[in-house]
Amino acid sequence: MRALVKTSAAAGLELLEVPEPEPGPGEVKIRVLRTGLCGTDLHLFEWDDWAASVVRPPMTIGHEFFGEVVATGADVTHVREGQRVSGEGHIVCGTCRNCRAGRRHLCIHTIGLGVNRDGAFADYVVIPAGNVWVHPDDLDPELGALFDPFGNATHTALSFPIAGEDVLITGAGPIGVMATAITRHVGARYIVVTDLSEFRLELAKAAGADLVLNPATHDLRGAMAELGMKEGFDIGLEMSGAPSAVAEMLATMNHGGRVAMLGLPHDPYPIDWSRVITHMITIKGIYGREMFDTWYAMSAMLQTSAPLREALHSVVTHRLPAERWPEAFEAIGSGHCGKVILDWT
Ligand code: NAD
Ligand code: ZN
Repeated sequence: MRALVKTSAAAGLELLEVPEPEPGPGEVKIRVLRTGLCGTDLHLFEWDDWAASVVRPPMTIGHEFFGEVVATGADVTHVREGQRVSGEGHIVCGTCRNCRAGRRHLCIHTIGLGVNRDGAFADYVVIPAGNVWVHPDDLDPELGALFDPFGNATHTALSFPIAGEDVLITGAGPIGVMATAITRHVGARYIVVTDLSEFRLELAKAAGADLVLNPATHDLRGAMAELGMKEGFDIGLEMSGAPSAVAEMLATMNHGGRVAMLGLPHDPYPIDWSRVITHMITIKGIYGREMFDTWYAMSAMLQTSAPLREALHSVVTHRLPAERWPEAFEAIGSGHCGKVILDWT
């Protein structure tokens, strides 16, 4: 089968012919139909310090996927051949305190599909049956391929009640745009989205933002005045990883505001703690998806909302056959894109 492999501890990837993986006990083999590229894959491609510290080549990369079950190992009872599925890419230990308490997203031994074990940028992938998420038969494959980042967006957006609230989203990458669509779906009042890229701000606007702005040229106070917001944002969803975006967010939160932080910064950075304290702002870190509450929420929201399905489709800007993977990496490297999808059929 074909697989996109990190073959050595250096920049680059190779599309190779490799043996098909077979499912062991408790595992499921999936024929991959669509995959999504994410920033993690770009780090692995470019081989930065983080990549060098976690990956032991050779390794097939990729963790955002949709496919069809073609075989199940011994002891697999709740997944069967022919089902259309995605997979939770965080594989947990099942035995640490959090796992045993049912809080698997807080497992202290989490390993990553396509990082610590062979991933989904291939014709077939094998994952533990417990990580499989079965979709309705008629789900669009492209939407299925979005479930991992859609899950990040859902986990973050639903961290605090947002109905009727004024929400600031910093960062309009694919996840920020999906969070915009979810926030609209759930019934926020005003949604303001910031990004340095005009292209991405347009995607956020299309996904339901009331107002989008580039912080390099416009300030958030002006946006608030334009909307008639007198006090400040109730909810912040940080999806850029940029320290300056966090500073702008904290400076415009209402007293008692709540901030969910998904964006990963490159380095530690200072924040205005006296503002956090005197404004009694809650800050919550978000990692991955809740297993599997987030997945239930995603499926249910998509099932009932055509506008949400449409908004998610609008996040996808590039669709390429797997052989054209270098163009896909070029697109995400440029930032002039939304979600980039590879077709393995
Ligand atoms: P992305 O890199 O495509 O998007 C980030 C966006 O932030 C870009 O469009 C960039 O232009 C914008 N940005 C940069 N500086 C900004 C600023 N000062 N103000 C406003 N916007 C600014 O990433 P993505 O795939 O959409 O993911 C969003 C973030 O979440 C990334 O930081 C990513 O590393 C992180 N992430 C975290 C998890 C987790 O589990 N915590 C999972 C996936 C991704
Ligand atoms: Zn665990």
